Amino acid sequence: MGVARSLLLSASRSNWIAAQLRQRAFFRRAVRRFMPGEDLESALVAAADFGKMNIGSVLTELGEQVTSRAEADAVRDHYLGVIGQIRQRKLPAVISVKLTHLGLDLDHAACLTSLQTLIARAKEAGTFVWIDMEESRYVDATLDMYRRARAGADNVGVAMQAYLRRTPADLDALLPLKPTIRLVKGAYNEPARLAYPSKADVDAMYFQLAGRMLEHVPQGAHPIFGTHDLRLIARIQARAAALGVSPKGYEFHMLYGIRAAEQRELAMAGATVSVLISYGSAWFAWYMRRLAERPANVWFVLRNLF
Ligand SMILES: Cc1cc2nc3c(=O)[nH]c(=O)nc-3n(C[C@H](O)[C@H](O)[C@H](O)COP(=O)(O)OP(=O)(O)OC[C@H]3O[C@@H](n4cnc5c(N)ncnc54)[C@H](O)[C@@H]3O)c2cc1C
Repeated sequence: MGVARSLLLSASRSNWIAAQLRQRAFFRRAVRRFMPGEDLESALVAAADFGKMNIGSVLTELGEQVTSRAEADAVRDHYLGVIGQIRQRKLPAVISVKLTHLGLDLDHAACLTSLQTLIARAKEAGTFVWIDMEESRYVDATLDMYRRARAGADNVGVAMQAYLRRTPADLDALLPLKPTIRLVKGAYNEPARLAYPSKADVDAMYFQLAGRMLEHVPQGAHPIFGTHDLRLIARIQARAAALGVSPKGYEFHMLYGIRAAEQRELAMAGATVSVLISYGSAWFAWYMRRLAERPANVWFVLRNLF
């Protein structure tokens, strides 16, 4: 892992740095590149605009690792409201949640109940719930909750990280469930014994896992490729075509503000595309992860500063 990436990811967990930077106007301006606004309304308006371009939206309120039940309940209630808005405005949108935002660190049973409540409400509204994948210490609990949720519902999916050495085995264990899986490279600071440190290894693993997922489309798997890596996307499309998997059998998801032109081009060329739109005030750790993905982004922040 590069030094810059490692430093930025360590900084993402510092409350002191967060407190120093979050109030700075230049920093807040720089963050706007990756989110339409801090409020839900901005995200809903952006989702409607994407809908006009035949691009779906995945809405997520920033935040993680809440420390009280009241906070976790407020997050659940917030998302119930979001689902209501998606239904009322007839948006081509779904939600994505972090389990630690729903209180995973506090009480597993209550977290699962909140997750199932969201999934049930989403089902009534004709929408879908994604479970993000967080640091490696949460993978077992996250996959366990996904299995339990999936047992009673078909409108739930989970993210899996190609950088983790364990993911091929985890994927094989999930495939019999006809899962909906968002494959991502992985955004956290993980030790080399758990995650491949070299980008080349992560990219190779991503392509290998993507192939495995595509092979299982005829058995009911629904793969989503969460990446901006255009070379990888082209290789995945070629692999899907070679396997006879139609472009309707899989999707590409990208983050708001990254590769926007290519998002539109892919959708116009017939791919199923969605954009993950983040909003909320708790953006510090999340923003540092975006900088770490491409340390050249730090120059963008500095340009704003001067
Ligand atoms: C829809 C979606 C959901 C995600 N969910 C999760 C999750 O649940 N858990 C998790 O650990 N990670 C998640 N991620 C983040 C993911 O793990 C990667 O960190 C991130 O997508 C960057 O990897 P990449 O696949 O785009 O490939 P890279 O090889 O990192 O990037 C490919 C190209 O994309 C562009 N690019 C990538 N990132 C940036 C950036 N920040 N700023 C500017 N340009 C950039 C650059 O041009 C770069 O060359 C998600 C990503 C997406 C798109």
